Amino acid sequence: MRCPACDDYILIEDFQDDTPFECPGCKKILKLDTDEGTYFGATHTTLIIMEDEE
Ligand SMILES: [Zn+2]
Repeated sequence: MRCPACDDYILIEDFQDDTPFECPGCKKILKLDTDEGTYFGATHTTLIIMEDEE
């Protein structure tokens, strides 16, 4: 999975764990956002940025 901020590759070990964590590349706080029951009928997980202080 790619970091939405810096595009670093991040290994997700547990897709059920939505505890925020820090991206090792850009130090932004990321969180797994799981959307159940999508159009495709499968759980869709994306990485979102928790903090974005410019
Ligand atoms: Zn990053």
